[in-house]
Amino acid sequence: MDYPGNLFVVAAPSGSGKSTLVNALLEVDAGVAPSISHTTRAPRGQEKHGREYFFVGQDEFDAMARAGDFLEWAHVHGNRYGTSRQAIEARMQAGGDVVLEIDWQGALQIRTLFANAILVFVLPPSWDELRARLIGRGEDTPEVIELRLANAREELAQARHFDYLIINEIFERALFDLKAIVHAQRLKYSAQKRARADTFKALNID
Ligand code: 5GP
Repeated sequence: MDYPGNLFVVAAPSGSGKSTLVNALLEVDAGVAPSISHTTRAPRGQEKHGREYFFVGQDEFDAMARAGDFLEWAHVHGNRYGTSRQAIEARMQAGGDVVLEIDWQGALQIRTLFANAILVFVLPPSWDELRARLIGRGEDTPEVIELRLANAREELAQARHFDYLIINEIFERALFDLKAIVHAQRLKYSAQKRARADTFKALNID
């Protein structure tokens, strides 16, 4: 599928600071919009239905998956998460960029659907830092934290399949890196051609 807008996919183990990074990008770059996923997990802390996620039951998730409403979906940490097709395709069709904050399985599925998708993996600077961040955010029980750390080992091994790596050691630096990736992607010949078809036509280039 070839839309004028760009699709950025950001994956990372929990606790890498991925959400903070993506939210900071969204604040400074109005050209990028997030996609709100559906999940079967229960809301955490201050999370609101329709803001962080659409929180749905197993049956509703099943029905959506069967109806083909998801571009991709995956089991992550014992729950299911899915990216809705409609909102993303409509935005990219209209020339807007979209950022997906999803796990590595979803990212690799997206790549098979959108050859132009840009896959970014965010790494924590160390294991100790990852554990400290998971404990520090105070959202998960010790059992869930251990599950997330165990899963992180497997997740980190997938980083090699991604186009770009950001090591989130110093937040400002990591944000600069993410903005640079987004900017560079928009300047690619193929992306300019998709986004600026009229200009290409007027200049008689292809
Ligand atoms: P959390 O429960 O911490 O919000 O998210 C757990 C993991 O699921 C994170 O890696 C998050 O990026 C991922 N995730 C969130 N939404 C989706 C989605 O729509 N699809 C997939 N494959 N993963 C998702």
